[in-house]
Amino acid sequence: MNKNRNFDFIIIGGGVIGCILARTLSRYTARILLIEKESDIGSGTSAANTAIVHPGYDAVPGSLKAKLNVAANPMWDDLAGELQFAFSRRGDYVVAVGSDELARLDELLERGKLNGVPGMHIVSAEEMRSREPNINPAVSGAIWATSGGICDPFGVTVAAAENAIMNGVAILRETVFEDFLWSGKQIIGVKTNRGDFTGRWVINAAGLFSDAVMHKAGIHPEFSITPRKGEYFVLDRTEFSVNNVLFPVPSEISKGILVTTTVHGNTILGPNAQNIDDKENKENTQSGMDEVFEGARKLVPNIHSRHIIAIFAGLRAGGNAACLTPGSDYKHDFLIEIPGEVQGFVNLGGIESPGLTAAPAIATYVVALLKDVGEDLHERKDWNPIRPARPQFRHLTHAERDALIKKDERYGRVVCRCENVTEGEIVAEIHSPLPALTYDAIKRRTWLGTGRCQGGFDMPRVTEILARELGVSPLEISKKNGASKFLCRPTKEEGDVE
Ligand SMILES: Cc1cc2nc3c(=O)[nH]c(=O)nc-3n(C[C@H](O)[C@H](O)[C@H](O)COP(=O)(O)OP(=O)(O)OC[C@H]3O[C@@H](n4cnc5c(N)ncnc54)[C@H](O)[C@@H]3O)c2cc1C
Repeated sequence: MNKNRNFDFIIIGGGVIGCILARTLSRYTARILLIEKESDIGSGTSAANTAIVHPGYDAVPGSLKAKLNVAANPMWDDLAGELQFAFSRRGDYVVAVGSDELARLDELLERGKLNGVPGMHIVSAEEMRSREPNINPAVSGAIWATSGGICDPFGVTVAAAENAIMNGVAILRETVFEDFLWSGKQIIGVKTNRGDFTGRWVINAAGLFSDAVMHKAGIHPEFSITPRKGEYFVLDRTEFSVNNVLFPVPSEISKGILVTTTVHGNTILGPNAQNIDDKENKENTQSGMDEVFEGARKLVPNIHSRHIIAIFAGLRAGGNAACLTPGSDYKHDFLIEIPGEVQGFVNLGGIESPGLTAAPAIATYVVALLKDVGEDLHERKDWNPIRPARPQFRHLTHAERDALIKKDERYGRVVCRCENVTEGEIVAEIHSPLPALTYDAIKRRTWLGTGRCQGGFDMPRVTEILARELGVSPLEISKKNGASKFLCRPTKEEGDVE
């Protein structure tokens, strides 16, 4: 636990928004604390989404969403270069099937132009069939947006958090915001399950729970987040793949069910869009999965259920921000403000898609808002933007593997056979700037356990390695938090003979 309890900025929420904001603010001379309620950062919406860096043709022209999406898109090359996470700018397609959908492509092209999206082209049906051999033969045309990209959303979140830590930011996990500390109308800190922390500014980046945080600040009682569930299938990359990101023509409330490749080479199908009440409900449903499968097969008919190796779901933090964001009358817009009613509070809400894409521009926007209200931010001369990536065995050449194993033999012991992840990589994550302390934390950082066997072989080994490196009993090791321990009691004493 960090002994220092006085900060300039306290950020509530360690998703992609909070972590990129922490890293952006670490460029200035300021004491910064980020608190995250879960056992790891990036455990909320930032871990379960489609992972697309959107060009910006989808957002309503004039909205804050559109502006920040288009501003953020070109920032991703530098971000990925500096933080060394997986990112590929391969463009994306919006695919029309049948002649009726062709008119929607023109509308999207027009919207893209209004939003200032560069590099959008119409591709003929014939060209589309040659670029994506598995596409529905009834394809009638497509938009190719060259600035689209795919990333590892957890990768960017953890890399930003690590770089923030390298630059002096304190990150406390399992630390739950409970209420504000006040001096009159000035917020002067937060109360948490680990005691109080004071801060000149408190920043709400609590995602799905951002409405509850702003209500504690006494503002926008009419603002609420309605979780909108999106469900996915993951396909075995050795069985089936597409080359790129394939969107259908969008609906009023969603970009539709995609078929897309990922930076890990798997194809994913989804998401659907279903409003629900429970902010913790990430269960997959039969009806939802049927909807996703049918939707995906409209774009790529020869996907088969035997290709599926995993399912997951994420929750969009859809807000009713109508009229709350100055200058925007778009009811699903991002809400990003320094409200006048209270002092010392930066408020972010309704950061649904394309929040991942927009994250670097959102951080820059918050810095601009702070400067506008007179916050004196001084750039540090010693700020280091580079977060070095750690070696990933499966991406190395034979010569590089040999050299690594000579230095550390643990890189010669493969723990996850499907994804070729070694003991050396697991140990490196446990001792990284933001240590991986659970199975899921290791899985998200190394991609172990995500192949055909879904962790069946590696789980006991990872449990053993975690216990050894952390100096605790294997009984203490959990999947994602204290409530999800793998082992409940020893079945044999040491020295027992079978
Ligand atoms: C199905 C789906 C598909 C999507 N696809 C895309 C896409 O392809 N491209 C794109 O750009 N965007 C996409 N998005 C949107 C994107 O994922 C989100 O906009 C982004 O992840 C939001 O990040 P966040 O940091 O605001 O929220 P989160 O990642 O949810 O982070 C908020 C954090 O705050 C923490 N927290 C909450 N309450 C407290 C508290 N009281 N104390 C301490 N911590 C607290 C939470 O535990 C959480 O970790 C998608 C979203 C979904 C659900």
